[in-house]
Amino acid sequence: MTVQLLQYNDLAVTAHAIRTCWQSFDKSDDGGEKDKELIHRVGNKFKHASTLEHLSYSFYIQGISRACLQELARHRIASLSVKSTRYTLKELKNNPPLMNSNQAEGTYWLWDEIDKYIVLTGEYAVDTYSAMALANLKDLLEDGVPNDQAKYALPESYKTELTWTINARSLQNFLYLRSSKSALWEIQHLANAIFQALPKDHKYIFEDFIQEKTQ
Ligand SMILES: Cc1cc2nc3c(=O)[nH]c(=O)nc-3n(C[C@H](O)[C@H](O)[C@H](O)COP(=O)(O)OP(=O)(O)OC[C@H]3O[C@@H](n4cnc5c(N)ncnc54)[C@H](O)[C@@H]3O)c2cc1C
Repeated sequence: MTVQLLQYNDLAVTAHAIRTCWQSFDKSDDGGEKDKELIHRVGNKFKHASTLEHLSYSFYIQGISRACLQELARHRIASLSVKSTRYTLKELKNNPPLMNSNQAEGTYWLWDEIDKYIVLTGEYAVDTYSAMALANLKDLLEDGVPNDQAKYALPESYKTELTWTINARSLQNFLYLRSSKSALWEIQHLANAIFQALPKDHKYIFEDFIQEKTQ
């Protein structure tokens, strides 16, 4: 998977929101160390966490499975725009075969090609069944079955991508829940990759919410 930070707003905006409550604008250092300490003290320690909602991040997340997407989408306090399988299954239909089969070399899976479409787990039996489901789906499409029908044969491992926007308060909740050892391994990786993609000077707001580091 890859996670790219597309956009975020300045810490000074969050500090301004906090300073609005006490009208202490004159004490601001425009997003500097004083403002950063204020954000941590008020937003994190005093749990006046609604102030953290003024800080938001947009990410471009690529190469997660539909299984992982399903879990990510449970986080309601976020905005998602997801690649449509209805419109993009033609990639699978038109692209090269997933299996080599000629008499000289025999029959074997082309894992580099398969890896473009599904998340591989490293568990050979699981990945093979997943590749078989993908090959069946490709057959359906090549036989002319419309995308709207064929999508019901998608394996959960099928890769997708999305633009995801979330505010800092909700991101803390996401990172806490999904960096836990009890979360699915793929969303644990995603939580860690999202944390890594944050601007260096914003990470301190989230550090205490990371339970397990996977990278
Ligand atoms: C390890 C793990 C296992 C899980 N297993 C399952 C499972 O088996 N089945 C399953 O269905 N889900 C499961 N989930 C998903 C889980 O129940 C949550 O839906 C998901 O983690 C999103 O969390 P959230 O509601 O805090 O986030 P968000 O939806 O982003 O909500 C953020 C916060 O807003 C508040 N909030 C949002 N909506 C409401 C509301 N309607 N009422 C009151 N407060 C609200 C809450 O404080 C919430 O924490 C699992 C999650 C984890 C981490």
